Amino acid sequence: MTKLLTFSIFWVVQASAVLIFFVPFAWGLVLLWAVSHFLRAIGLTLAYHRYFAHRAFQMNRVARFAWTLIGTAAMQKGPLWWAGHHVNHHRYSDRDGDPHSPMVSGFYYAHIGWFLNDARHERLAATNPVMRDFSKAPEIVLLDQYFAVPPLILAAVMYLVGGMPWLIWGFCLPTMTLSHATFAINTVNHLWGSRRFDTIDQSRNNAFTAFFAVGEGWHNNHHRYQRAARNGFYWWEFDPTWYVIRLMAAVGLAWDLQRVPGRIYREAAAVKARRAVAPSIVSILDAEIYQGVDLADEAEPV
Ligand SMILES: [Zn+2]
Ligand SMILES: [Zn+2]
Repeated sequence: MTKLLTFSIFWVVQASAVLIFFVPFAWGLVLLWAVSHFLRAIGLTLAYHRYFAHRAFQMNRVARFAWTLIGTAAMQKGPLWWAGHHVNHHRYSDRDGDPHSPMVSGFYYAHIGWFLNDARHERLAATNPVMRDFSKAPEIVLLDQYFAVPPLILAAVMYLVGGMPWLIWGFCLPTMTLSHATFAINTVNHLWGSRRFDTIDQSRNNAFTAFFAVGEGWHNNHHRYQRAARNGFYWWEFDPTWYVIRLMAAVGLAWDLQRVPGRIYREAAAVKARRAVAPSIVSILDAEIYQGVDLADEAEPV
């Protein structure tokens, strides 16, 4: 697909969301928006993000295909492309090499530009862990290559079932809102919010983005311990993707759920206590811990 075509389709779908003002309003259509937005958001976060990029749990192959298909219907390109770039985001967070950092390339490029004009980031190295391990699964490679098909099918089904109102409220509007829910994690969550952990990147926790991106807004937590199957580290941090993973585990569809280690919770408590007395001091030892040099276990009190 040429770059111009990608660019045109993206902006046509974005603009088509305004068509909601041209069809008669009904609360049922708002429900349709919610189902289409949140279900596909779970597909993206559960499969693309927590499974392919972070291997936060294992799942049944049929369930993996189903969630990946739902995620691909979000129109955010293919699972290997998405997750492979996301691995690079964590590797180079807010430094040169990060595919989307508002610190490195400005807000527009980090939010949308990188996704559309990704000449620098179009190809992923064969050594990228996502490419290396998941390009062996033919059904996933198929979705990755033909990523434009699931959104097209969704749009067609919406139109066939409910005509223009369903196409607009079940595809156009939620595809637009979901794109920004995802993109906001790359921009809003590196600019605005609270920082429980003093990570070397600018990641932040933000309840607003967590709601629309089904738990991904607890992004500072996630940058501190990216392997965990949950991004909300406490029960009060709304993380519906985690609830779905738990539910899948309860019925045997998912297993090997990666937990947040006790030392991370102790670190959170230690940072909180330290800030209470010295709000902005970060010691060299702390900086090493946050860069991933794992001294925390040795430093634990007996
Ligand atoms: Zn990030
Ligand atoms: Zn991540």
